[in-house]
Amino acid sequence: MLKWEVAESFGENKPLKFISDGMLGKLTRWLRMLGHNVKYSNKLDDTQLIIIAKKERRILLTRDFELYQQAIAKGVDTFYLEGKTEEEKLAELARRFNIKLEIDMTTSRCPKCNTRVNLVPKERIAKKVEKSTFAHYGEFWQCPKCGQVYWQGAHWKRIRKTLQEAKEISEKPSQDKK
Ligand SMILES: [Zn+2]
Repeated sequence: MLKWEVAESFGENKPLKFISDGMLGKLTRWLRMLGHNVKYSNKLDDTQLIIIAKKERRILLTRDFELYQQAIAKGVDTFYLEGKTEEEKLAELARRFNIKLEIDMTTSRCPKCNTRVNLVPKERIAKKVEKSTFAHYGEFWQCPKCGQVYWQGAHWKRIRKTLQEAKEISEKPSQDKK
């Protein structure tokens, strides 16, 4: 049942709910930035991951084949990631779940704590960023939960590059097609 419900939502590029295993901290941050709701803690064991995934109807993401098999046997929607780099992993997810590899700040979540970020009046963050940053950029977002401030600074180039590379990988014809 759950399988069908999740599968139907893939076509719409709407935010998805995931839970990722302790090895996927980096990927978790990417997915949150892309607007998806991702629960993550490296303190959860396999049993807890499966219970939470089931209870909260989250798709379990894992690099652990044993956990993958266990979760499938318990009827949890699970995706096994094979990619080595972040780009490869993002590409796999984009293909499987029809995820758009572009950051939309209106739906973006705090990579640290999974809360939706808000566009904030510049004045409000004046004391929170370096003077040069404040002078140079016009738009700032803040996480209402942890207070972290975000802006599309020099590091944004790298972010775009990673996403562009992931996009290119995801558009290549799949190798495991039979
Ligand atoms: Zn936060």
